[in-house]
Amino acid sequence: MSLDEELTQGLKERKAQAQYRTRHITESAAGPLITLDGRSVLNFCSNDYLGLANHPQVVQAFKDAADHYGVGSSASHLINGHSRLHHELEEAFAEFTQRPRVLLFSTGYMANLAVISALLSKGDHVFEDRLNHASLLDAGILSQARLQRYQHNDPKDLQNKLATSKGRRKLIVSDGVFSMDGDLAHLDKLSAVAQQQKIALMVDDAHGLGVLGKCGGGSVEHYGLGIEQVPILMGTLGKAFGTFGAFVAGSEVLIETLIQQARPYIYTTAMPPAVAAATLASLTLVNEENWRRQKLYELIQRFRIGAQQLGLALMASDTAIQPLLVGENHKAVALSEALLRDGIMVSAIRPPTVPAGTARLRITLSAAHDEAQIDRLLEGLRQHSTK
Ligand SMILES: *Cc1c(COP(=O)(O)O)cnc(C)c1O
Repeated sequence: MSLDEELTQGLKERKAQAQYRTRHITESAAGPLITLDGRSVLNFCSNDYLGLANHPQVVQAFKDAADHYGVGSSASHLINGHSRLHHELEEAFAEFTQRPRVLLFSTGYMANLAVISALLSKGDHVFEDRLNHASLLDAGILSQARLQRYQHNDPKDLQNKLATSKGRRKLIVSDGVFSMDGDLAHLDKLSAVAQQQKIALMVDDAHGLGVLGKCGGGSVEHYGLGIEQVPILMGTLGKAFGTFGAFVAGSEVLIETLIQQARPYIYTTAMPPAVAAATLASLTLVNEENWRRQKLYELIQRFRIGAQQLGLALMASDTAIQPLLVGENHKAVALSEALLRDGIMVSAIRPPTVPAGTARLRITLSAAHDEAQIDRLLEGLRQHSTK
């Protein structure tokens, strides 16, 4: 068989298992209403939780910076791609996260690869929640450390695995908010285990930052945990901050080590300076506009109450991620397609993104939605979810 024949076989199998994915084409800015494949649909699958991706101040900051700096950064941070705007954003995030120093990355995926592969190598052990984001699991593999996955949100299982580990250096890694389930990691308990055993804890708070905590400080603010408890904090800019990129916050030596050794930091082009400027603007909004978190919280409550009244299989989540468990791949896809015919976009999440037999609709809510839009989603689910 030629390579193409083999690949054709592989794609056929994917289709048969309802695991085949296709892309839609959008022609509008992010928001509750988007133009998708030429028609207007109600959007319940973006990660723009606070409605900042198309905020006028964020857009203006981007334009102004592009006028001054152009578009491309033209080099990696260590050569001459590190602009004044990147530097200011790092300092602003250090203050926001109340940690000594922050390092920007071009994407969250790369930030995770960078941290774990810079800190661990052969002979070390990394302990990860089973449901951690794919980038964290890939990072563990890239590092060549021994990767041990503990039961989801189960500090006891983690403790048992740690007890028998003979790794040289050990690292515990967890999502702050689990990206496909929406539940919060028990960071209070995880950090207690980590501290007791003098092992560093890394938290990827892609879905918590900006959203959780009184000031948007994320899951660590929610639990009141500082750098002692969570020495490595990673956040992404493409979700609640509405822009693009990521950061890692921690001690001086942690950040300096990443600058010196993290290959996904060193060997890539710095994000455009205008993206840093836009993120500075959105960080100000995250800091100042508490009403966005409050409104999002109210919409989450409205959705959950409505879904409960309909008897839908809601998962235990209080965050903007509100998955509906369906189970079988074909069923999840059929439900997603039926909703889309009604002008409601909710994506079906299937294996390997989630464990087999747990296909689901991943509904995400945003402060930019209004109550009538939540009600329309509930009505769509009422009509289609039992079929
Ligand atoms: C989205 C996400 C990432 C990846 O971030 P990008 O900036 O999109 O590459 C990493 N971790 C988690 C938990 C995420 O949800």
